[in-house]
Amino acid sequence: MQQINPAVLNEIKKSGSEYIENAPMRKLTSFRTGGNADILVYPKTEEEFISLAKICRSCGTPVTVIGNGSNLLVSDNGIRGVVVSTSKLTEIKDDDELTFTAGAGLPLKHFCRHALERSLTGLEFAYGIPGSVGGAAYMNAGAYDGEMKDVILHCRHVDPSGKVSVLTNPELDFSYRHSIYSDSDLWILSVTVRLKKGNREEIESKMQDLMSRRKEKQPLEYPSAGSTFKRPKGSYASLLIDQCGLKGLSVGGACVSEKHAGFIINKDNATSDDIFSLILRVRQEVFDKTGFLLEPEVKIIGDWSHRNDFDKIKGTG
Ligand SMILES: Cc1cc2nc3c(=O)[nH]c(=O)nc-3n(C[C@H](O)[C@H](O)[C@H](O)COP(=O)(O)OP(=O)(O)OC[C@H]3O[C@@H](n4cnc5c(N)ncnc54)[C@H](O)[C@@H]3O)c2cc1C
Repeated sequence: MQQINPAVLNEIKKSGSEYIENAPMRKLTSFRTGGNADILVYPKTEEEFISLAKICRSCGTPVTVIGNGSNLLVSDNGIRGVVVSTSKLTEIKDDDELTFTAGAGLPLKHFCRHALERSLTGLEFAYGIPGSVGGAAYMNAGAYDGEMKDVILHCRHVDPSGKVSVLTNPELDFSYRHSIYSDSDLWILSVTVRLKKGNREEIESKMQDLMSRRKEKQPLEYPSAGSTFKRPKGSYASLLIDQCGLKGLSVGGACVSEKHAGFIINKDNATSDDIFSLILRVRQEVFDKTGFLLEPEVKIIGDWSHRNDFDKIKGTG
């Protein structure tokens, strides 16, 4: 742990935001691994979120924004600086008959249920993706027949100087598991979607069907971050991993799922180091045997200075 700049700590205390010093990130990640964040802050309002951006920038303190932690591999050494959780920014409001807006921290599940309650169709694909609305926009999360880019009208964000702006769908530079936010230090405040009028029973039945397919195909009984690797052009990560005979391959407590080769799971008290080593091993074996170089979909964050092989994967996610 490193000492937080006293000016930043003072501002956090003054703001009234809840915070935890030396916070265990394993409690906030779906992998259930990772060391401590120097300080973890939970802004309750957009104003608190924005004032954090300003104070951290003026003091040169590094900031990491997290949503629901369902796509993160956090170093066992933890994260230096301030980690900001959006989990309290969950307000949702209807803008018009087809359009609604939610705070970045709202769980996607609630977002999808809101659409269902209003008989709006288009978001069913997202039911079952265990992220927040902001994390889903950032990742352009998708499943089955949809992606966030199909439904997002615009996103509001704040930059490190505290300036709030709006970007419309075409400006968000969406592509497969990528948005403009993936390459920036902008923090998403809220996401607005526009859907279509649909039939409530049909929407509900599609949501339930997709959820059952997840339960059947995915190793949801173990901690994971979903698909570890992105789909490479011309194939599927899970197919390549399976073809290379890597199901069940383990490093420490981390294991390539037998049920779904695309998932690395925390089978038995894995560390982030175990998972990282397994990612490297799978990547190398798949490359040697098939020529496909898999890129992690999982965001590998925090202080990895103890790993001299970190460069092998740096910047690929
Ligand atoms: C069992 C399981 C199944 C999954 N299935 C799918 C699936 O079908 N499809 C799919 O696409 N993904 C899937 N995922 C991965 C994950 O749920 C998605 O990537 C999700 O969108 C991540 O959202 P999050 O809120 O958890 O983001 P986090 O994991 O907290 O963060 C992900 C990235 O987004 C950034 N971020 C988060 N919020 C903000 C914000 N407000 N402003 C700026 N940056 C932000 C973080 O800095 C980080 O780089 C699955 C994961 C699990 C565990």
